Amino acid sequence: MAIKSFHPPQRILMGPGPSDVSPRVLGAMARPTLGHLDPVFVAMMDEMKELLKYAFQTKNELTMPVSAPGSAGMETCFVNLVEPGDKVIVCQNGVFGGRMKENVERCGGVAVMVQDEWGRAVDPQKVEDALKANPDTKVVAFVHAETSTGAQSDAKTLVALAHKYNCLAIVDAVTSLGGTPVKVDEWDIDAIYSGTQKCLSCTPGLSPVSFNARAQEKIKNRKTKVQSWFMDLNLVMGYWGAATKRAYHHTAPINALYGLHEALVMLQEEGLENSWARHQKNHLALRAGLEAMGLKFVVPEAERLPQLNAITIPDGVDDGAVRTALLNDYQLEIGAGLGVMAGKVWRFGLMGYASNPRNVLVCLGALDDVLGRAKAPIQRGVAVAAAQKVLAG
Ligand SMILES: *Cc1c(COP(=O)(O)O)cnc(C)c1O
Repeated sequence: MAIKSFHPPQRILMGPGPSDVSPRVLGAMARPTLGHLDPVFVAMMDEMKELLKYAFQTKNELTMPVSAPGSAGMETCFVNLVEPGDKVIVCQNGVFGGRMKENVERCGGVAVMVQDEWGRAVDPQKVEDALKANPDTKVVAFVHAETSTGAQSDAKTLVALAHKYNCLAIVDAVTSLGGTPVKVDEWDIDAIYSGTQKCLSCTPGLSPVSFNARAQEKIKNRKTKVQSWFMDLNLVMGYWGAATKRAYHHTAPINALYGLHEALVMLQEEGLENSWARHQKNHLALRAGLEAMGLKFVVPEAERLPQLNAITIPDGVDDGAVRTALLNDYQLEIGAGLGVMAGKVWRFGLMGYASNPRNVLVCLGALDDVLGRAKAPIQRGVAVAAAQKVLAG
């Protein structure tokens, strides 16, 4: 039988990403493909850099999207800033800190791990203790918004600590950018990477990054070549640098970049502060509904991410069966637990375009039905009303 065109169903994406993509972004991506050195396209790239500077709240010239997903943004930061033998303090409070360790070691660096409980923020005191015990440390790396658990760490404090001990700070803002405050210049972040498929309402596959003067200085003074040709910023800048000397490095993902451009225009139209407030309000509404049902959050209130809500699965409830019923009966995707939390938690994402009242109410109504049918020990018929009360307030 001949394979025909692929037509995906219309789902509601309320997991840890990808999240719902705005129709405006999908529309932009269907526009005519240009050559990657076409002057019209190059002008769009210049706008993109300005839009990204706004999203990151920075004046850094070295701000652009890496042509690959968030993991490649992570790798771009590490391969450029870590040389063989460099000691790097890596904070781990979930899955993604473990990936940072992998990156450090593959660059020939030495990772000093600062471990925190999964579901908690990074403890600055532990980081300071590690910095005192390892005075030869060059870089401190941490995840601002740990998507595997829903915990948010205090980026401003951690970056200040890194600088107090003459280290650079690498920050993972894949899930935070657009959803919760990220202030690159005010917090003096040296290197930061994000992703397009979490709170930016865009498709997966691109990774915005930004580097300040301190980070660029370190890259300029490297003793060794960056081992990745593709991610070597010295080469990438030949393409993304000043408009006059754009040279071929790789073929940019043209239409994907149209999508990100549109997503960032939407963010600018809404305003960053309004976007953060929207994520917070929808989180509070979802939370009111989940708690009215009797479900419990994993992360203590003060350390919670509004865009990623991790809930403990009630005793005796079949994790997989519930998620399958939500998908089949309601076209609703939620996230399973990751790593040590597999089978123990559900992760409800309210990211970017997906952070809206309709999703909150549909999700709570669907969960009420599916958990009720599964005979889970929950309070029935109260979640939607509890959320509506918050949304109306
Ligand atoms: C999703 C995510 C990544 C990886 O991004 P990809 O686009 O999946 O490569 C890295 N860090 C965090 C915190 C994430 O949530």
